[in-house]
Amino acid sequence: MSTYERYDLLILGSGSTAFAAAIHAQELGKTAVMTEGRTLGGTCVNRGCLPSKNLIEAARLVYDAAHPRYPGLTPGRLGVDFPALIAQKDEVIREYRDQHYDSIVDDTDEEGQPPIQVVPGQVVFVDPHTVLVTAPDGLSRRLAGEEVLIATGSSPLIPALPGLSETPYLTSDLLTSQEEMELTELPRSLLILGGGYIALELGQMFARFGTEVTLVTRGKRILSGYEPEIAEALTEILQEEGLRIITGAQVRGVRSEGEGVALSVQRHGSQQTLSAEKLLVSTGRRPNTQALGLEQAGVEVDQTGAVRVDRTLRTTVPHIWAAGDVIGRETESQTATPVGAHDGKIAAHNALSGEPLREVDHRVIPRTIFTDPQVAVVGLTDEEAVAAGIECDCNTIPLAVVPRAGAIRDTRGVIKMVLDGPTRRVVGVSMLGVNAGEVIHEAAMALRFGATTDDFIDMIHVYPTMAEALKLVALSFTKDINRLSCCAT
Ligand SMILES: Cc1cc2nc3c(=O)[nH]c(=O)nc-3n(C[C@H](O)[C@H](O)[C@H](O)COP(=O)(O)OP(=O)(O)OC[C@H]3O[C@@H](n4cnc5c(N)ncnc54)[C@H](O)[C@@H]3O)c2cc1C
Repeated sequence: MSTYERYDLLILGSGSTAFAAAIHAQELGKTAVMTEGRTLGGTCVNRGCLPSKNLIEAARLVYDAAHPRYPGLTPGRLGVDFPALIAQKDEVIREYRDQHYDSIVDDTDEEGQPPIQVVPGQVVFVDPHTVLVTAPDGLSRRLAGEEVLIATGSSPLIPALPGLSETPYLTSDLLTSQEEMELTELPRSLLILGGGYIALELGQMFARFGTEVTLVTRGKRILSGYEPEIAEALTEILQEEGLRIITGAQVRGVRSEGEGVALSVQRHGSQQTLSAEKLLVSTGRRPNTQALGLEQAGVEVDQTGAVRVDRTLRTTVPHIWAAGDVIGRETESQTATPVGAHDGKIAAHNALSGEPLREVDHRVIPRTIFTDPQVAVVGLTDEEAVAAGIECDCNTIPLAVVPRAGAIRDTRGVIKMVLDGPTRRVVGVSMLGVNAGEVIHEAAMALRFGATTDDFIDMIHVYPTMAEALKLVALSFTKDINRLSCCAT
């Protein structure tokens, strides 16, 4: 082992995964150092969850004012000062980063535990225990770790399209709070490549602020991998709001055109050109493993570039661990902040505690897409259940049957439940509807404890809430839910 600055836990990255690990190392009385090539706190706080959710809510206010659901309310037009919205977003992010990230660094906890340190700069392995960190001013430092955690997250995946490298384009990094690529002017029109959650969240947001949005995806539908009923219902909702959605499109080329961009697209045998002021490439994420010198450490990656780990989050090198977005779908993980934070702590425990190793359990991970209405899912889709050999039974009901949806005049959406037929155990729920991101937690807890449809039916739900959708869809397997009195029994 080298004689450089030496820590019990050397962490590559400073996102939510890294912080969870560093804090747990501190709790265990161990020294930890993080390294960061961009902004402290990583993707979620600086250019992901937080900035997107801040602006999405502002866009909802604009939309709701212009489209009141109640007769008797007069539509209003809120002025949109986009640069001011960006400035407040940056303020919210700054405060959050100060409170939840900056304040934790270089601080000893109340018990006088060792401080958590951060070294700014791009990090690359020199050998299995040592990294070189090169700061923006070109100065380098070597750091060594008894144990090492790779938590370098993921970045926008940029497809190899003819002309793209010579054409200006945006990625979701436009949300960044601290870098030049931040978008501070609202584009008049926007072409979005992609049909996943980031494309949809940002597409609806820009459209609601007043941008003309065209979403282009090569898939047969948006949200591949989600239940088709959800994707179809959301497509209709977004189209009604004015988004143009072009599916089954092969992009043949991209070029600058005047002040904007032009996209050459082939669809059903015919070619068309789409133009807009800006292009947003949102075609997925890739693990940040290319520039880490992993070969110097002997750490293997899978065919997607994700760090290979076992269920204890150990890589192919015994003292090197990995967690968060950088492990991609290894161990059936998902790329989301709470997953990284949860696993970062497990990785630190396994690396440092000397206690029996903990294994990750990724079977129940609730997820939400923050469109309006929200999409929320947990467990298996119909297709996944069939592929897993489950003799499944599925039902989908419209949210119009949920009393609360009717009462508040927002009946958009559907809910689908997937059962293991013979046992009636619920193995998956997907919902598109108001507050779906809150409702899904009941389903997640139910999956965690192996609940059956009877458990959903027997549980008394608050009336009138959107969570009653779960009870109603559970009842729909055995009853005509259009013939129920108020509290769905
Ligand atoms: C637009 C958008 C919206 C999102 N919304 C949500 C949401 O609502 N809810 C949710 O749960 N998740 C959301 N996510 C996903 C979430 O942001 C990620 O899952 C999460 O941030 C991953 O955390 P991490 O710690 O694994 O990686 P990161 O947060 O990406 O941290 C890794 C850090 O490592 C640094 N790094 C990488 N390579 C190097 C190197 N060579 N040298 C030095 N430093 C390096 C990076 O700069 C980065 O700061 C969203 C993501 C995006 C892009």
